[in-house]
Amino acid sequence: MTIPTPAAASADIGVYGLGVMGSNLARNLARNGYRTAVFNRTPTRTEHLIAAHGDGSEGVFVPSLDIDDFIRSLERPRVAIIMVQAGAATDAVMEQLAERMESGDIIVDCGNSLFTDTIRREAWARERGLHFVGAGVSGGEEGALWGPSIMPGGTTESYDRLGPMFEKISAHYEGVPCCTHIGPDGAGHFVKMVHNGIEYADMQVIAEAYDLLRHGLGTGPAEIADIFSQWNTGELNSYLIEITAEVLRQVDAATGTPLVDLIVDQASQKGTGKWTVQTALDLAVPVTAIGEATFARGASSGTAQRAAARVLNGHAAPLEVTDRDAFVEDVRQALFASKIVAYSQGFDEITEGGLIYHWDIDKGALARIWRAGCIIRAAFLDDISRAYDSAPDLPLLLAAEPFASRIQDAVPSLRRVVALAASAGVPIPVFGSSLSYFDTVRAERLPAALIQGQRDFFGSHTYHRTDKPGTFHTLWAEEGRPEEQWD
Ligand code: NAP
Repeated sequence: MTIPTPAAASADIGVYGLGVMGSNLARNLARNGYRTAVFNRTPTRTEHLIAAHGDGSEGVFVPSLDIDDFIRSLERPRVAIIMVQAGAATDAVMEQLAERMESGDIIVDCGNSLFTDTIRREAWARERGLHFVGAGVSGGEEGALWGPSIMPGGTTESYDRLGPMFEKISAHYEGVPCCTHIGPDGAGHFVKMVHNGIEYADMQVIAEAYDLLRHGLGTGPAEIADIFSQWNTGELNSYLIEITAEVLRQVDAATGTPLVDLIVDQASQKGTGKWTVQTALDLAVPVTAIGEATFARGASSGTAQRAAARVLNGHAAPLEVTDRDAFVEDVRQALFASKIVAYSQGFDEITEGGLIYHWDIDKGALARIWRAGCIIRAAFLDDISRAYDSAPDLPLLLAAEPFASRIQDAVPSLRRVVALAASAGVPIPVFGSSLSYFDTVRAERLPAALIQGQRDFFGSHTYHRTDKPGTFHTLWAEEGRPEEQWD
């Protein structure tokens, strides 16, 4: 197909990278009335996009086969979105764009970049007089096309130019756009990373609930799909619960077997869960639910270890379920309690990240833009946004209403479910760790006191006392175990 050289300054915004996400985001922009310049390293992708959607019925595309033409086709101040793989590819594309752009132009990275890379790139672009916006985009292919949840970082000035466009193409929840300025430099990619971490935990607790129902009820995926559909009408209402029912209902046409039983049980990952956990460790925030969910994917894919463990008679025993309805309700409550823990921990990480990196993140607004468009969209994000709107410095989401009452109601079920699963040998890493986390944060006194004693014994690491201020060290080996005050 022949693509003519575009006219100068004939596009409102450009998209570089026309893979799955880039082509759909470009179509979304064009459909919403923005003249959208498009460019891809391999020209065939540009040609395919224009052949399939460039007849004008979906808005105006301004295609280029040459990067100089692409830059020339953008109106000033230019806005160019990068939608390529995170890492080296993003750096390479950024350099190509920066070489050709001018002071005041805006480069937007909508890939899943690591927020520390975004901080570095923003500083690099700023030195050259350019704006750099790291924007988290959630919602997959469908979201990119019909309305994702968008989490842009960068300067307020860049948001003034970019924000109206992003707000228009984003998903809307009750008329409110699912896009807001998150904060400077890496803030947008940081919250997108945590969003994905929460997504890992949410998916894992759903999988654990499914596994328990399967073991406990002895029914097939289709019946369990009905239970998930029923749950989706209540407080668990969410995109992930909805698609779980659909996945469980799917039957393989060739064999008549439920498809879920034919899918290899090894969960893959692209790294955002791992980043969330690594960052949480750096920030000293316990995101146990996200951590266990990430490790559970790793354990499922540890083929050598799983093969070696076959000698361990690892089959789960049947669950002792006497009252089916009560059991299903317990599993539902356990799922909800674990979900509260996962979100509370994710928001703790956002709070701590915001403090350390000096981002003033509005967590109420953040929860609002996750109500539609993104993978973790759920009814209960409304309650999260209300909780942070009324108390922006909330120290612990799960201790705020309505979550405090709700989790206290649900924990007896979570205990029963965890005990039942443990006695039968059904793995429930996130259910189990969520219960332990709940018991940890609400405990009046923890055995951490003993750990401090051990640390002081072998390493003179000192400790604080409950009865007087100061830092203390005990001369453990000496007669009478005298104590020294160190400050
Ligand atoms: P994709 O379909 O694999 O497309 C990758 C694009 O990157 C292609 O256009 C490719 O160009 C381009 N590219 C790769 N290396 C390049 C380089 N060195 N120089 C120039 N162009 C290069 O990927 P995708 O699924 O659209 O994902 C794009 C980004 O969005 C990633 O950061 C991903 O993590 C993020 N994301 C994806 C999803 C999702 O659901 N898929 C959701 C949110 C965010 P060629 O055609 O020339 O190879």
